[in-house]
Amino acid sequence: MTDETGDISLKDTNLITSSNRQAGFVSLNSALIRSGVGLAIASGIGYLGWRKGALTHSGAFGALVSGTVTAGRGGYGRAALLVGFFVASSLLSRLPERQELSFSSFTAKGGRRDAWQVAANGGASTLVACFGEGQRYRLSYLGALAAATGDTWATEIGRRWGGTPRHIFTLQPVDPGVSGGITLTGTLATVAGGGFIGLLGIVSGLIDPAFRARKRELLLTGAISGVFGSLVDSLVGATIQEKRWCDDCQKRTERPIHTCGSDTSVVGGIRGVDNDVVNLICTISGSATGWAIERRSNRQD
Ligand SMILES: [Zn+2]
Repeated sequence: MTDETGDISLKDTNLITSSNRQAGFVSLNSALIRSGVGLAIASGIGYLGWRKGALTHSGAFGALVSGTVTAGRGGYGRAALLVGFFVASSLLSRLPERQELSFSSFTAKGGRRDAWQVAANGGASTLVACFGEGQRYRLSYLGALAAATGDTWATEIGRRWGGTPRHIFTLQPVDPGVSGGITLTGTLATVAGGGFIGLLGIVSGLIDPAFRARKRELLLTGAISGVFGSLVDSLVGATIQEKRWCDDCQKRTERPIHTCGSDTSVVGGIRGVDNDVVNLICTISGSATGWAIERRSNRQD
């Protein structure tokens, strides 16, 4: 079961499944039971997230779909990573604010995540989980979540303890929350957030054979995908993300309608490339990083 190549482990799992079936048991690891467990846990988390103000109604529904599909198709290990990402990010966002007002009047949406935000952060990993529970796509799954986590941690930690952000190209100081702005603390947080998901991957080996092999690789993939995904996020945020302007307040914003109630106009970037699109590109980059590392290590076997 603990063989270096997870394929053998999965064969073992299948053998156990079929022998259990012959004995009249329903295996805890059948896709149907996993979907049920995923649905139950995701319902609880979605409800708590909505009650605590972390999710809107649509966001809670998105979390429900993502959790059920991930557990059912991807297995318990991948589901555990998803839970870890969501719980850690939600806890971080509840830390005391430093410049709450200037930040929330700038960002496109409030503190609650809606379905689009859930899809932007969890869509890539959920899609990869649909490919199945095997060894082959585990790092691209982990990379997608590591990028989402790294980016979220950079935002939450950077805006509280990062000091004044600087633009990724010009290094000129920018307002907190402005896309393309980076801080040293935030950049270190991308390593920590990605590494955290890698660490969770190792722990997930306790319940999922796919995460038992090559522990160091899990940790490295997490950290690298966390940094790379967030770097791509900042680059895209600094270039093609739409930039909006409120004429009444003479302020930059991401909101189509400013907190003052006035319509804002697009003054730069590509219309429609909002924060959700940028986050989706970030997680796809993280997934691609994991995929490349997986391919490389499979070739070495
Ligand atoms: Zn305004």
